[in-house]
Amino acid sequence: MRLGRVASPDGVAFVSVEGDGDATVVREIAEHPFGTPTFTGRSWPLADVRLLAPILASKVICIGKNYAAHAEEMGGPAPADPVIFMKPNTSIVGPNAPIILPPSSSQVDYEGELAIVIGRPCKDVPAAKAHEVILGYTVANDVTARDQQRHDGQWTRSKGYDTFCPLGPWIETSLDPSDLEIVTELDGQIRQRSRTSLLLHDIPKLIEWVTTVMTLLPGDVILTGTPEGIGPMQAGQNLSVTIEGIGTLTNPVAAKR
Ligand code: MG
Repeated sequence: MRLGRVASPDGVAFVSVEGDGDATVVREIAEHPFGTPTFTGRSWPLADVRLLAPILASKVICIGKNYAAHAEEMGGPAPADPVIFMKPNTSIVGPNAPIILPPSSSQVDYEGELAIVIGRPCKDVPAAKAHEVILGYTVANDVTARDQQRHDGQWTRSKGYDTFCPLGPWIETSLDPSDLEIVTELDGQIRQRSRTSLLLHDIPKLIEWVTTVMTLLPGDVILTGTPEGIGPMQAGQNLSVTIEGIGTLTNPVAAKR
């Protein structure tokens, strides 16, 4: 199932996204998409609604340097254990929402990433049971003010600006994430192309590692790390991240006004 969240003529709702191309419709889910969703009976053509970020997260956990080739381009070997950091949930935006470049940064980079969406409250989840706590997977862009990341020595400012966590277009709940192609395009030019099979720490390990530290709540998101090929975006450009089996997340880049 593809789970999304939309602004419809009747308000904001979680939906299932069904069909393809011009025939795609969204069916309204009653209340929330966790567990077994129930439907209200209302539906709209996808063209008549606006896709929002597909989930409301209490927190966004990110994994750093989880592809060897990206660790190398950042100037060092990948660490033995997963590196985790966080983005505030106020950094989340949906498909087609602009990424706003802060005037205080001279280099804002894209980082295309596979994102895990958590389906139920959990703590201390062994890797073998990680699948039980996952709602599904979506596409993310871990937008980063690279100059500030280098300057600050820790990453909260550089990763935390409003609009620095595009998510979407929806959550795919029936997906084997172990070997999916991930492609990032800037104005239609391919800048990143890799496969999730190259993740240094796989998804079950990441769930175990993160839940050793903190309780995860339904809707929480884990960004699994970016492959090589990161680079800057300029105002007026369009950034798209496509993950096989999920879809394409596209966001325009804009200067702050
Ligand atoms: Mg990242």
